[in-house]
Amino acid sequence: MCIHQRVIYNCNHFSWGPLIRPCETQKSFDARSSPIVCETIYAHALHSYKVERLCRDCKLKTMGASEKISKLRLLLRGLNEAMDQIQLKRLGGEEKEKSAGTEEVVKTAVVDE
Ligand SMILES: [Zn+2]
Ligand SMILES: [Zn+2]
Repeated sequence: MCIHQRVIYNCNHFSWGPLIRPCETQKSFDARSSPIVCETIYAHALHSYKVERLCRDCKLKTMGASEKISKLRLLLRGLNEAMDQIQLKRLGGEEKEKSAGTEEVVKTAVVDE
């Protein structure tokens, strides 16, 4: 078990901080003498500290819903505009292709006569 620093948020969620003390498993992995990476992380009370803020997830959740919606709307508007431009370009391209096609038909018709 490696001892990691741990940050405990106001919402009682926590996130792992940097490694404080690696265990033998991790040490031998770091020294490339073992292929096994240590997956057991352990927080020591001494290395856990509380912060007076919410974790990232909770912060996002509590973020004003209206703020999120307006951001989403802006994003969607941008996407719609981009899509419109793509479609316009595509339509314009198709029309050009069609007219070019008709010209060819006319030409071949002339040659056939
Ligand atoms: Zn370990
Ligand atoms: Zn949280």
